[in-house]
Amino acid sequence: MNLDPTPDQARIRAVAREFATAELGQKIAPWDERHEFPHAIVGRLGDQGFLGALVPPEYGGAGLDHVSYALIVEELCRGDASVGMTMWAHNSLCTGHILLFGSREQKETYLPRLASGQALGAWGLTEPGSGSDAAAMRTRAVRDEGEWVLTGTKAFITNASVGQVAVVMAITDPPKRQRGISAFILEKGTPGFTAGQRYRKLGLRASDTAELVLDGARVPAANLVGELHLGFVQAMQVLEGGRIAMAAMAVGIAQGALDAAVTYMKQRTAFGQTLAEFNGLQGMVAELATEIEAARLLTHRAAWLKDAGQPVRHTAAMAKVFASEVAMKAASKAVQIHGGAGYVTDFPVERIFRDAKLTEIGEGTSEVQRLVIAREILQLK
Ligand SMILES: Cc1cc2nc3c(=O)[nH]c(=O)nc-3n(C[C@H](O)[C@H](O)[C@H](O)COP(=O)(O)OP(=O)(O)OC[C@H]3O[C@@H](n4cnc5c(N)ncnc54)[C@H](O)[C@@H]3O)c2cc1C
Repeated sequence: MNLDPTPDQARIRAVAREFATAELGQKIAPWDERHEFPHAIVGRLGDQGFLGALVPPEYGGAGLDHVSYALIVEELCRGDASVGMTMWAHNSLCTGHILLFGSREQKETYLPRLASGQALGAWGLTEPGSGSDAAAMRTRAVRDEGEWVLTGTKAFITNASVGQVAVVMAITDPPKRQRGISAFILEKGTPGFTAGQRYRKLGLRASDTAELVLDGARVPAANLVGELHLGFVQAMQVLEGGRIAMAAMAVGIAQGALDAAVTYMKQRTAFGQTLAEFNGLQGMVAELATEIEAARLLTHRAAWLKDAGQPVRHTAAMAKVFASEVAMKAASKAVQIHGGAGYVTDFPVERIFRDAKLTEIGEGTSEVQRLVIAREILQLK
C-alpha cells in the first residue's frame, strides 16, 4: 500500500500550488469584499487545463484521475476557496453529469467548450423549497410537440449567473417522486431561461451563487440527459464525486488556515517571545496538522476508490463530513491564534473562517452525510 501521490500526481499538485501561490490568496480579497466574480482569474484556470480536469482528451480535457483532481482542488482552495469552488462545481457537477450520462452527441457538443473554459457550467438540483429532501422539487418538465418545456426555480446554484451551460433536474412523472425526475441540458440565451437573484453570502463571496429561473424554457428532446425519469438517480451519483471534491476543498481550506496561523506565530511576539514558542499554541498546531492529514487521507482514499471503479457513496460521505468539520475547526483555531488580528480583514484567516462554513452545508449537510454513513452501516434503504 503506497499512500504517496505518483510522480505525475505530485507534478500536477506542484502546478496547482504554483498557480494558487501566484494568483490567489490575498489577491482575491478585494473581489471577496465586493462580492464580485474574478472573471480574469477564472479564465486563467481554463488556460491551465483545470476546467477540463476529468474530461478525456478526445473532448479537449486533461483526462486526469480523481486523485490528481482532488490534489488540484485542495491546492486551489488552500489559496482561495471561492476560486476553488468555482472550478470544482464546474467540473464535478455540470461537466461531470454530461461526462457520466450524456450521449455521444451531447459530449461532443458541450464538453470541449466546458473543458476549455469557453463556457462555465452550473448544476441545478436545489430549489427554494427543497434541499436535503431534493426529491421534493417542484420544477416541472412537460413534453410538447417533440420538445420539453421547463418551469420552476432552482436556488443557491453555483456559477448560475456566470455560467453558459447548465444541467437541471425537473419532474417528468410527478407521482413517482425520485423515480419521476429527469435531467436536461440548458444554455443561456434559451428564451425563458435566466439567472435570477444573485445571493450576498457569508463567505465564498468571490464565487457566483444565484437562482436559475425557468419560465416555460423550451429545449429539444435531444437535451434530455440519459434515460427519462432517471435524473435523480444520476444526480445522486454526480453528488458522490461532488462530495469528494468538497472534501478536497475542506482539506485545502484547513491547510490554508494552518499555513496562515504558522506564519503569524513566527512573526508575532508576546511576553518577549514569538507565539510559536507557547506550548498551548504548539498543541493547537499539532492537533490541527494531525486532523488535516487524516482528512486528506480519507479524501484521497475516496478519490482512489473512484478511480478504481469501486462504490464510493459511503467513503465520500465520510471524507466530506470529517474534512468539513476539520476545516471549520482549523479556521476557528487560526482566528484564535491571530487574536484580534484574526477578526479583521487585514489577514486571510477572517475570509477563511467565513468560507469554511459552506463545506458543512453544500453537497449535502453534515447531518445528511451522517445519515448516508449510518444507513450503509445499518444496511437500511
Ligand atoms: C454557496 C452555496 C452553493 C451551492 N451550490 C449549489 C449548486 O451548485 N447546485 C445545487 O443544486 N445546490 C447548491 N447548493 C445548495 C445546497 O446543496 C443546499 O443548501 C444543501 O443541500 C442543504 O439544503 P437546504 O439549504 O435546503 O437545507 P435544508 O434541507 O432545509 O436543511 C436545514 C437543516 O435541516 C437539516 N436536515 C434536513 N434533513 C434532515 C434529516 N433527514 N435529518 C437530520 N437533519 C436534517 C439539515 O442538515 C440542516 O441543518 C448550494 C448552497 C450554497 C449555500
